[in-house]
Amino acid sequence: MTGGENLEPDAAPASANADEARPARSLRAEKRDLIALGLAAAAIIMFVGTGGRMVSQFVRNIITDGANSVDPMVASTLLLNVALIIFIMRRHTDLTREVAERRKAERRARQLADIDPLTGCLNRRSIAPATDQLVGEANRSRRGVAFIMIDLDNFKQVNDLHGHQAGDEILMQVASRIRALMPRDALLARLGGDEFAIVQSYDRMLPERIDQFVTRIIDSVAQPFNLDCGAIEITMSVGIAADRDDFSVPGERYDAQALIHKADIAMYEAKKQGKNRHFWFEAPMENELRFRGQLESAIRSGVKDGEFVPFYEQQVDLETGELVGFEMLARWLSPEHGIVSPDVFIPIAEEIGVIGELSEGLIRQAFKDANEWDPALTLSVNISPVQLRDPWFSQKILKMLVESGFPAERLDLEVTESCLHENIGVVRSMITSLKNQGVRISLDDFGTGYSSLAQLRSLPFDRIKIDRSFVSDIGEDENGAKIINAIISLGDGLSMPITAEGIENDSILTALRKMGSMKGQGYHYGMPENATAVRERLQAAGRIVERATEQDAAGAIPEERKSRA
Ligand code: C2E
Ligand code: CA
Ligand code: CA
Repeated sequence: MTGGENLEPDAAPASANADEARPARSLRAEKRDLIALGLAAAAIIMFVGTGGRMVSQFVRNIITDGANSVDPMVASTLLLNVALIIFIMRRHTDLTREVAERRKAERRARQLADIDPLTGCLNRRSIAPATDQLVGEANRSRRGVAFIMIDLDNFKQVNDLHGHQAGDEILMQVASRIRALMPRDALLARLGGDEFAIVQSYDRMLPERIDQFVTRIIDSVAQPFNLDCGAIEITMSVGIAADRDDFSVPGERYDAQALIHKADIAMYEAKKQGKNRHFWFEAPMENELRFRGQLESAIRSGVKDGEFVPFYEQQVDLETGELVGFEMLARWLSPEHGIVSPDVFIPIAEEIGVIGELSEGLIRQAFKDANEWDPALTLSVNISPVQLRDPWFSQKILKMLVESGFPAERLDLEVTESCLHENIGVVRSMITSLKNQGVRISLDDFGTGYSSLAQLRSLPFDRIKIDRSFVSDIGEDENGAKIINAIISLGDGLSMPITAEGIENDSILTALRKMGSMKGQGYHYGMPENATAVRERLQAAGRIVERATEQDAAGAIPEERKSRA
């Protein structure tokens, strides 16, 4: 089997369904053909019979000089017969043409089921049997087979920015660039979306040939695509699996399903390592993926079981040293993994779509905790960019405020610069509606992203938080101090007060205090603590309010704010 042949629609592997459907329909047609043929045969026999009699009567008529006239009955039977034969012959020709057309349509339907209509490559369904066949053939000729899984990087952005037509154009051109570099005995499939696969036999002694081949493809696809909407650049992540490796049973080859699974894992590794690269499958990758899968399901069940709890970090007015509020920081108290950092579980929760539920649970708990604190203390909460994509986000926050009786004025939402790259119009209206209710919004981790000044000015932030990476350098590094000074003057210009994070020691604190008035937080003031520890700390400082019952607390919400939410 050769790649060229397989990519030709005619040689595509047959579809099981089309094959099942075909005999039934063909059988019916053939039966009809048989009946027509039978009738034709009968007509011909009759024709021969009546024709014979008619001819002898005719001859006799000539010999006897018209004394014996032709039997009119025989003559009309003969004429009828001729008409019948002509009719049946024509019917037979029609039927033959019909059958031929139907066969063509069936073949076309089969091809459609096997071939990706956009790119003309094989599709996910047909690549598996074609791969198994290639593996079988390579086995006989003692060669190896490499399954090369390709996923375009950030293809969704192309679709979002330039439209689906541009996306389709890119997919077609990617396929043709790959095809131009493929050896004849290779298979090319589009597995769906922006995912392609190449299956190719190779000399097992020379696996580097596959690396070279893949590098050529990555380089070729990296050349800009010139579309009507402008030049678009695309990179790709590639995972490769061999049909036999150190882990396979001796003498056994992986089948198509196993190859797809392994190549997919290697491709995922390429994505994880920064995209635009390729990896061969290795067993440890699978363990890591399995661990990741376990982590995902543990996070899902942890959200349901309330394993995520708020910790609180003090925020202080640097000038007076007075405690002004807390930043809530999520912690996962996992029965299996112990206390897990949000840097580990937040990105996974975002990816698997549970960040909203997780965050809402934490916020509800934090409102409850903070309701017991001195009402002068604020509560800062981190919000993921994923949550800002939820059109109901502001309503959800306002509902929680009303339900818990927590004053909107005490709440400060921290959003990062990455939210500015999302749909800025939607983010702006969401922020505005929250601000109208009294909630404040801070721009977190300022300086680590790449927000433009224009964006910063167009969004009504109340505060800028300087990322701790600049603050912790301040003692040793002159540049750190320069950057902080620049951010402080930016904040002054935009009338946005500053919070500095990552104050770890006295010398950082002293340096910051010289730069201007601001709020600050960091391990210098203590590590983030759980609700009980915070309550004890505040109790000691006389900053806990004793509320009679929760109902009283709810009753304390002004009617006006209830109706606004
Ligand atoms: P962040 O918003 O920058 O939070 C501050 C992080 O810096 C916290 O890490 C805190 O423990 C740490 N930190 C505080 N003071 C110091 C210091 O003096 N030195 C150093 N080196 N680090 C300090 P944490 O708690 O591990 O949180 C990490 C990140 O996870 C947070 O960064 C925030 O972006 C995210 N995060 C935490 N909780 C949530 C949450 O509920 N929702 C969302 N979406 N993200 C959260
Ligand atoms: Ca933060
Ligand atoms: Ca930060």
